Amino acid sequence: MKRGLVFVISAPAGTGKTTLVKMLKEEFHHIVGSVSYTTRLPRANEVEGRDYHFISTKAFEQKIKEDEFLEYAKVFDHYYGTSKKYVESQQEKGKHVILVIDTQGALQLMGRFDAIYIFMSPPSLEELMARLYRRKSEDEEAIRTRLSWAEREMALAPKYNYHIVNDNLKTAYDVLRSILIAEEHRNR
Ligand code: 5GP
Repeated sequence: MKRGLVFVISAPAGTGKTTLVKMLKEEFHHIVGSVSYTTRLPRANEVEGRDYHFISTKAFEQKIKEDEFLEYAKVFDHYYGTSKKYVESQQEKGKHVILVIDTQGALQLMGRFDAIYIFMSPPSLEELMARLYRRKSEDEEAIRTRLSWAEREMALAPKYNYHIVNDNLKTAYDVLRSILIAEEHRNR
């Protein structure tokens, strides 16, 4: 069996990454998402083990000590990390793994971890702001923080192997699935 690939996706909040990744998993059943560990609290619609493994800061720091993370970072005051063991075991089963992680985490992996790096961005910061307000999952202050962070993250797009601008969901999805198919056929 061929070893699965890893796709690392970074995208500012409100880019549509969750929808795009969901579409990809629905179409291709040999793709799994990595469920990260985080110290932030669950949002209203989030489920333990599906969206994240929600753990305490103490438990997270213990995992850092035990070298359980492929990468981890602090985003908006909370820790987020990817389980080394999970990614490895899925790849061994021939599954492709998608990591949706922030730019700090992706930059840690570049150059030392074999993966396909994809950056997704909204058409513009104005559009991103409109999307975040429409989503109404956060207050004004949190949205402002996310926007300034998004601006910084977007400057890192050229470091990734691919850059998808999501100005139209269907077009963005076509690009994403094309990347997957092409990468499966690349000579390695
Ligand atoms: P949120 O709190 O909105 O779910 O996620 C905040 C940010 O943390 C997003 O950019 C998300 O991609 C990132 N993130 C989620 N899991 C991980 C992880 O395991 N590692 C890193 N570095 N970032 C993560």
